[in-house]
Amino acid sequence: MKTFADLIQEVQEPGLCHQCGGCVAFCTAINYGALELGADGRPRFSNIEKCIECGICYSICPVIHELDEDTKKLVFWSAPMGRIMGNAVARATSPKVRAQATDGGVVTALLLHLFDRGRIEAAIVSKTTGPFQRQPWLALSREDIVAAAGFHFDTLPSIKHLSDAYTTYSPSIVGLSDVAKKPLKRVAFVGTPCQINTLRRMEVLGVVPSDAIRFHFGLFCAGNFQFGPEQRQRLEQLGNFTWAEVNKVNLKEELLIHLNNQEIRAIPLNQLDFMKRHACQFCGDYAGEFADLSFGGIGAPEGWTTVIIRSPLGRAVLADARGVDIELYNYREDPALMPQAMAKVLEWSEKKKRSAAEYHQQLEKKAV
Ligand SMILES: Cc1cc2nc3c(=O)[nH]c(=O)nc-3n(C[C@H](O)[C@H](O)[C@H](O)COP(=O)(O)OP(=O)(O)OC[C@H]3O[C@@H](n4cnc5c(N)ncnc54)[C@H](O)[C@@H]3O)c2cc1C
Ligand code: SF4
Ligand code: SF4
Ligand code: SF4
Repeated sequence: MKTFADLIQEVQEPGLCHQCGGCVAFCTAINYGALELGADGRPRFSNIEKCIECGICYSICPVIHELDEDTKKLVFWSAPMGRIMGNAVARATSPKVRAQATDGGVVTALLLHLFDRGRIEAAIVSKTTGPFQRQPWLALSREDIVAAAGFHFDTLPSIKHLSDAYTTYSPSIVGLSDVAKKPLKRVAFVGTPCQINTLRRMEVLGVVPSDAIRFHFGLFCAGNFQFGPEQRQRLEQLGNFTWAEVNKVNLKEELLIHLNNQEIRAIPLNQLDFMKRHACQFCGDYAGEFADLSFGGIGAPEGWTTVIIRSPLGRAVLADARGVDIELYNYREDPALMPQAMAKVLEWSEKKKRSAAEYHQQLEKKAV
């Protein structure tokens, strides 16, 4: 039976750990808690004597291929970028949600819709806890859900006094441990494609507390980025701005730095390798291929969200919220918008898969 000791060798040592937190969340929620997340975000043994060698952490790790085929079958995955039942460009009807959201606020609007109808008791989201820092968060009220909207960074002048552990990453699966403690039965999960992938692997094995996750909301993901002091300084030079002027940061086809004076500085993602998390270079899922619904800003006009429907459940949620909590873009104004948006998602998805394959090849060559 392979255990976390094998994950150290096969995943962590080659630098492939996505830091999704799945191994820690499972072991903490169900077993005696042999694992913990270190201050650097990496999982590690907290007490190796508590490991009962169940092997589940190994099987659910998204970097391990043991459950690849079963996971694909579970969600009816098909090439080139997962199951697609439909798509939309939409936004929240609530101006308050839109004002706080990353793009059109559709993720937050759908969470509120599900919460108001009693379909979920809680949502695992990610909340800003300081400049360039987010933490997984179990949102138990409307206010909690709204407070977690967006992808903004506060750029307080005091930023230079803080440590360099700033990142766009938030190991949201760790919120599963709280789900198990409460215990909750109807929860929505919002996260990056790697996190959704881990949850689906748990579902394949039928391990709790993944059974409580009723809705999987995936975010498109070009990668996660470190915003340490050096990286921030280099970005200022690349984009010709200072952080004191920044109002919001967003990722689409470029890193978009929104300034307080309404100007936007766009930095191409291919110039950001210096701040991309190493493990993200090996990841080929851009479009949240294992989710019920996936969301991104790419292809949508400013203030709108591109949505991919991937399961009948996702389709039902969107249909139920339409005209109430979300509104669809008027395609008659621009009939080419939707096909163009999907073409862009496919282009970025293929680019990411190609790049990940190249990185894997290089790693294999090194190992020989
Ligand atoms: C790390 C990262 C990379 C991304 N890369 C791209 C990209 O390359 N191209 C693209 O088109 N879109 C990308 N997105 C998605 C995009 O930024 C928006 O999240 C998406 O369009 C939904 O917008 P919205 O206004 O509907 O969401 P909102 O209503 O603003 O809700 C966003 C939800 O995401 C959660 N969230 C925010 N940050 C994180 C995080 N770090 N980890 C987990 N959950 C989080 C919030 O808690 C909230 O529930 C990325 C998102 C993240 C977090
Ligand atoms: S108890 Fe199971 S899940 Fe926890 S570290 Fe050991 S093998 Fe992994
Ligand atoms: S399950 Fe996630 S956090 Fe754990 S080793 Fe695998 S990638 Fe890393
Ligand atoms: S690129 Fe995104 S989905 Fe892939 S490992 Fe990094 S954070 Fe996870």
